[in-house]
Amino acid sequence: MTDDNRVVVVGSGPPGATAALFLARAGMQVLLLEAGLEQEARGLTFRVQGITLAKRKGQLRQREGVTRTGAPDAQLFEEMAPGGLSNHWSCAVPRFSPEDFEDARRAGEEQTWPVDYEQLAPWYSRVEPLLHIAGTRQSTTQLPAPNVRYERRLAADWQALVSRATHLGRSLLPMPYAYGADTTLTPSGTPFNSFVRLIKPELGRGMIQARFGARVSRLEWSSSRRRVEAVTFRDRRTGSEQRVACRAVVIAGGALNTPQVLLQSKSADFPHGLGNLDGVLGRYLHDHPLGKLVVDLKRPISVHPASYLTRLELSRAKLPLYAAACMQWCSASDLARSVLQGTPKALRTIGFSVFGTMAPNRDDYVAVDDESRRPDGSAGLELHINHPPEAVPALEEARDQMLELLRGTGSEPSVKVWKVEPAGNSNHYAGTCRMHASPRFGMLNSYGRLHHVPNVMVADSSVFTTNPEKNPVLTSMTLAARAADRLAAELTSGDL
Ligand SMILES: Cc1cc2nc3c(=O)[nH]c(=O)nc-3n(C[C@H](O)[C@H](O)[C@H](O)COP(=O)(O)OP(=O)(O)OC[C@H]3O[C@@H](n4cnc5c(N)ncnc54)[C@H](O)[C@@H]3O)c2cc1C
Repeated sequence: MTDDNRVVVVGSGPPGATAALFLARAGMQVLLLEAGLEQEARGLTFRVQGITLAKRKGQLRQREGVTRTGAPDAQLFEEMAPGGLSNHWSCAVPRFSPEDFEDARRAGEEQTWPVDYEQLAPWYSRVEPLLHIAGTRQSTTQLPAPNVRYERRLAADWQALVSRATHLGRSLLPMPYAYGADTTLTPSGTPFNSFVRLIKPELGRGMIQARFGARVSRLEWSSSRRRVEAVTFRDRRTGSEQRVACRAVVIAGGALNTPQVLLQSKSADFPHGLGNLDGVLGRYLHDHPLGKLVVDLKRPISVHPASYLTRLELSRAKLPLYAAACMQWCSASDLARSVLQGTPKALRTIGFSVFGTMAPNRDDYVAVDDESRRPDGSAGLELHINHPPEAVPALEEARDQMLELLRGTGSEPSVKVWKVEPAGNSNHYAGTCRMHASPRFGMLNSYGRLHHVPNVMVADSSVFTTNPEKNPVLTSMTLAARAADRLAAELTSGDL
């Protein structure tokens, strides 16, 4: 690999790993810089036909050195390890739907994506096989069917609720899960760790090299060449600062670290951070407001496969960009409990994560806080986010419709727990380096490239213009694959 001909990818979470893989497949030499040390992707998961029989994983911790200037209880979990938060994720992989993009368009120019579902659909189909999805092949308006490896159907007692859900304007389906029916032994806390599944098998093939313990601090802009020509990082093992030359950079540190690196990349041309001529970098921070619902039932109901009650169809939505969906829990301990209670795969107490949305707002942001420091000496973050008042009614409406459906089974649901979690608890932060046709409303073009710095691409959920109530990993991987393919094509043709 010649030093200045390679593409540097920062971060090996799901979108960073996907970008590295698609660049390598397109013939690019890739250098992956990962802040975590190789041994920090720890854990072990043993599954038989998608059911976890043994699991060991590290603890998920909140980031240190965070100053909260919005909601004082806002949370920020982080995993600086190969695979990032995919060391902990639940593997739910719903697609965004055409209506999700239409909803954003209805909200006006500021919230309009520069891509739509039809442009993403072929890329979903290319990414989904990497995820070995177990789910349904049936599409609904709210949830297009993925490229399924293992077909799943709801159990008979849930099937009875499907038409009632449709009557309410929602769909009831099995939740699509990555590695949801595989028999696997994975050296990670989850069956799909993006580093373990996507990068590790490539390391021996010569197109991807990885440097671990390499925490990137900034990108170097060359004013004369009008492009970024190097990446600076701190080697965690030696404490030394190092620099690598590059032809292009893909940054995928997650929705908080990516804007931090770009904000720290100051120069005479970009005094407020790389490409940040319009002051939008770090702004439009949003996440999924999350309610936790636990329900007692008179009769046991099947908990496997886990059900998913989608958002309302668009024609029934009261406000643009406000929606919520119920994602039923089904853990190994739930299944064990069902066996101990003598009702295998069915329980009298079931739980749901009710994921909602918030309209992205310029006043919610993340910024570099030079006053506070992390334990390793790097700069802290200012986190400014408030959930808007419209978010909770959408969560409550989804909760109430779930209860209404369960009432229809004659199982007399009674709410044992209903709790709306603090901001950030869903681990779905997004939007801080968003895509938008206009640089006034977003940092990136429709291929995830900085409007003002064409050889820098962003690949994580910071690129989301809005954040439909769907879990983000599949869509961030899909956008990353599409953008990486375009970047490789332009590098190969010499257009870049
Ligand atoms: C408990 C839990 C359950 C979840 N369940 C789901 C789910 O079911 N479905 C779903 O879609 N999502 C789920 N998520 C969210 C999902 O895990 C994240 O959306 C996803 O991992 C984000 O990927 P990312 O690459 O943007 O960020 P991360 O996963 O945080 O990865 C960022 C990577 O970049 C590296 N990095 C960061 N900064 C730097 C730097 N400066 N230099 C070098 N490297 C750097 C990190 O070490 C890390 O490897 C869940 C999360 C949690 C915690």
